[in-house]
Amino acid sequence: MSSEIKCFCCKVVCDATKVVNCSICENSFKHTCVGLTFNDLTRVAKNGVAYTCPNCLVVSAEINELRSVIVELKKEVTELKESLSTRNTVTPSNIEGMSLNNIVNEVYERQKRQRNLLLFNAQNPKREMLRNELNLIIKWSVIS
Ligand SMILES: [Zn+2]
Ligand SMILES: [Zn+2]
Repeated sequence: MSSEIKCFCCKVVCDATKVVNCSICENSFKHTCVGLTFNDLTRVAKNGVAYTCPNCLVVSAEINELRSVIVELKKEVTELKESLSTRNTVTPSNIEGMSLNNIVNEVYERQKRQRNLLLFNAQNPKREMLRNELNLIIKWSVIS
């Protein structure tokens, strides 16, 4: 009294003893459809081996690939953050020691503009100045 099961891929109804169930998607496949011999099938059934169908194998391979890509990206982000924070410790006074003349000029230009603003508005833009300088250094670090 064996039941009959429809194969997920070809939709052919066949004896339950001739199908294998995927442990991931839980679909049933006729053993010949997924390239298993009847011996493979009985071995899978006997040993309680978790079977993974071809579809799920592809998906899990893709997921593994994505995982490694994510790991790579995380590493790159960490490295970038580290290199940025190292560059951020450079203060305007020793920026001159660097060959990045563009940064120096741009920072000084901004400082000059900030000083002009200070005269007109009588505000204390020290923090703002510092933030602008840091933003600028970050920007230059990213593109250089
Ligand atoms: Zn089939
Ligand atoms: Zn599956």
